[in-house]
Amino acid sequence: MSADTLLKETLIKRSQQKRLTSPLNYKERVFVLTKTKLTYYEFRAERKFQKGSIDLQRVRCVEIVKTEGGVIPCQNKYPFQVVYDSSTLYVFAPSYESRSVWVQNIKEEIKENSVIVTKFHPQFWMEGVWLCCRQAEKLAPGCEEYNLFGDLSRKLLPPIPGEEGTGSSRRPPPPPPPVHGPDDDDDGSVVEEVVIALYDFNGPEPHDLTMTKGGEYVILEKCDINWYKARNTYGEEGYIPSNYVTEKKLGNLEQYAWYSKHVNRNKAEELLRREDKEGGFMVRDSSKPGTFTVSLYTKSAGEGGVAIRHYHIKETPGSPRQFYLAEKHLFTSIPDLIEYHNYNAAGLVARLRYPVGKKERSAPSTAGFSYEKWEINRSELTFMKELGSGQFGVVRLGKWRAQHKVAIKAIREGAMYEEDFIEEAKVMMRLSHPKLVQLYGVCTHQKPIYIVTEFMELGCLLNYIRQRRDNFSPGALLSICQDVSEGMEHLEAHHFIHRDLAARNCLVNDALVVKVSDFGMARYVLDDQYTSSSGAKFPVKWSPPEVFNFCKYSSKSDVWSFGVLMWEVFTEGKMPFDHNPNHEVVRMVSQGHRLYRPKKATPNIYDIMQRCWHERAEERPSFSQISILISDALEVDGSSSA
Ligand code: ADP
Repeated sequence: MSADTLLKETLIKRSQQKRLTSPLNYKERVFVLTKTKLTYYEFRAERKFQKGSIDLQRVRCVEIVKTEGGVIPCQNKYPFQVVYDSSTLYVFAPSYESRSVWVQNIKEEIKENSVIVTKFHPQFWMEGVWLCCRQAEKLAPGCEEYNLFGDLSRKLLPPIPGEEGTGSSRRPPPPPPPVHGPDDDDDGSVVEEVVIALYDFNGPEPHDLTMTKGGEYVILEKCDINWYKARNTYGEEGYIPSNYVTEKKLGNLEQYAWYSKHVNRNKAEELLRREDKEGGFMVRDSSKPGTFTVSLYTKSAGEGGVAIRHYHIKETPGSPRQFYLAEKHLFTSIPDLIEYHNYNAAGLVARLRYPVGKKERSAPSTAGFSYEKWEINRSELTFMKELGSGQFGVVRLGKWRAQHKVAIKAIREGAMYEEDFIEEAKVMMRLSHPKLVQLYGVCTHQKPIYIVTEFMELGCLLNYIRQRRDNFSPGALLSICQDVSEGMEHLEAHHFIHRDLAARNCLVNDALVVKVSDFGMARYVLDDQYTSSSGAKFPVKWSPPEVFNFCKYSSKSDVWSFGVLMWEVFTEGKMPFDHNPNHEVVRMVSQGHRLYRPKKATPNIYDIMQRCWHERAEERPSFSQISILISDALEVDGSSSA
């Protein structure tokens, strides 16, 4: 496909029902947006067939479709419409973000069109009627004013979780990011969204905005989920990474130094011990969603011993809500409660004297070095030592602009379907999560092409656990699995399949965070031994039956591989089915044989692995369910102190 692709994704298209009698159908198509066309293809037997193409000059309106709670008869629940000539194309995106990205990008391309409508239909044409205005004429004029850069999506609520077909989960889904700021208030006045920088950001390009930790910024536009346009107090404007800021508002704990969102009991203890300060404390999310725990460190727990205590922040029933740690002292907010216990132990083993956690943490990776920048200038890279080599070639440590440490993979001639990868790289760069190895960009203008990613100081997870065998507590092993599960949860939520999840494809950084790497890369390997399920390098021992039999990949096949990864972690780096060649493993697994329980895995933990190895893919838990099972197990099995 040509290099001017702006977007590419598999979406679902509704048939256009040119004849009233023809039934509606919904088909998966690969949509490609360029500066001139929106084209959709069907993929069959690894070949693509163009099924339709719309000249963008003919597009008169693109907008999300309001569904008003109506049932959507396909798995993608986020519809948008493209009105061109006198036709309407309905397309269904897999997520709120995906839809926003498509709508915004197409709008950007059609903004100069002379044929833009003044009114449109915000709901579907269905069974001979416009659902919004009940007009029964397909060419009936629109019933709502169309504002090309108005923000309709902001006013919509995400669908009810149960209707999304995501299965049950105790954790509420994350709120969808709004697509635009500033926001309208009920009375029509404009309220500016103000954020606080959690880290320094040195905007590398002229269009970026440099931020100072603790500074306040006004959000002007949410360009995508990773980058916002913002203004500082001097009136300067530019792009900032969305994961470097938090909303300034009452009740948002992220603005406080004592709050650590993604820290479990085990990690909290590790951090408090490392700090070793009397009254060291942090507030973290409890395993029960929506509730919080104070973890507190004291050196004077009788006989001068060190102790760590975990206190749930309790709430009074009814309204107004009140919070307390010690029953006699009630507060209307958590910050008030922390402030009080800063001066009064009032039933705790110590006062909350010293916040631990946030300031020690280094800034997270950004989705690329700058907004909309994926091509990296190779003259800005310097090479340092070799880190290892893999299927695609040699990986080196390097620096970008002499400052940022990065890992640079030089792709060996003939090892990769390079063009396909380069296109996909733009999508992969948008996958940004603290538990995924960040893709920063690519150098594609010369051979060999380079893939530039986040540098992970301690290298691959498999070697890491093998080298430190016998030094891990059960909690530490479980915490490794939790990191991986959280990274995978993000891929699952974005309908992105890893296809080769294993301990060898995870990396560890110097803060001991484990991150998932090489996601989706198996698709670009040019080596039959690796890609054919009978090939010597095919990861049979990590594959479920539907993959080694029919190459049927899904997030649920990733779940199977995750079970095997858990087994690798709990055996501290053993080879699964060590004494069996691949063809025997295929036979054994097909007959129901599974890996044994590692000595370090409690029955509860082994139960999680076994659930991942359910013969029927649909019976396996999702990654969001696995993350919950692991947090629960961490509370029960994972803690080394009371
Ligand atoms: P390939 O994708 O070509 O198979 P890998 O990603 O497996 O290559 O990388 C090979 C080795 O290089 C890894 O096992 C690891 O030791 C090292 N490596 C790869 N990426 C990084 C990184 N981002 N940070 C640190 N080391 C890395």
